[in-house]
Amino acid sequence: MIDLKGKVAVVFGLANKRSIAWAICQKLAAAGATLAICYQNERLQRDAQELAADLPGARTFPCDVSIDSDIDGVFEQLKSAYGKLDILVHSIGFAPNIKNTVLNTAREDFRVAHDISVYSLIALVRGAEPLMAEGGCILTLTYYGAEKVFPNYNIMGVAKAALEATVRYLAVDLGPKKIRVNAISAGPIKTLAARGIGDFSKILTAVEERGPLKRNVDPLEVGNTAMFLCSPLASGITGEITFVDCGYNITGL
Ligand code: NAD
Repeated sequence: MIDLKGKVAVVFGLANKRSIAWAICQKLAAAGATLAICYQNERLQRDAQELAADLPGARTFPCDVSIDSDIDGVFEQLKSAYGKLDILVHSIGFAPNIKNTVLNTAREDFRVAHDISVYSLIALVRGAEPLMAEGGCILTLTYYGAEKVFPNYNIMGVAKAALEATVRYLAVDLGPKKIRVNAISAGPIKTLAARGIGDFSKILTAVEERGPLKRNVDPLEVGNTAMFLCSPLASGITGEITFVDCGYNITGL
């Protein structure tokens, strides 16, 4: 049994009940962590507040990671609310015009995809570090499209590759401070973000047909792995990309 009592976890990227962030929130809360849940903007506020109400002691905070003052503001609020942080989960990704091939990606779309999906991890970790004086765990979410080419994933695949490299560099930067940095590479899951990827159902079908477990992953299985990686049981793991994809990534044909 993983015990996270007394730990404070901030989770970024809750849009609705299908969000991977929500599965992670539920699992961290079940292990006893106190949850600070961040949502992007007013449009998502009600959903975030309704979901948070299910988790004892959870509070919600707005933060658009494309705005520096939002990031500064949320860490000030977290500092005054909790005085420390133990866990930070970054479950955020966005690529405008993802349907465009990499060849046809506009400079601004490249910039935004990397700003929201990669730089935001760096900015959030920088905000959290002073609150992790006794060490901590950082976790982000990536996809196999960072390593292999998937139809319609396009510039997001390039951004995820940068995200995975960022995990390794941050792990080295923060290791001396006893802060571990890891990523989960989740299998395909039907979420709001996934809706933007053309023919997503074909990817789901491929995992069912070709993956070792012959099924797709349940978001709560991603939540379980997040709980493990953010717990003392994973104290020797940092800079790693852990697949939670029902084994699909090991297959050839
Ligand atoms: P989701 O749509 O529920 O979550 C994406 C979140 O990113 C949303 O909450 C959205 O508000 C947030 N976001 C986007 N721009 C933001 C901004 N400027 N400021 C603050 N928040 C912002 O979808 P999800 O599938 O749960 O995605 C979570 C993470 O998991 C993403 O990094 C995604 O790439 C990754 N992932 C998803 C899958 C999948 O198949 N769904 C697989 C592997 C990895």
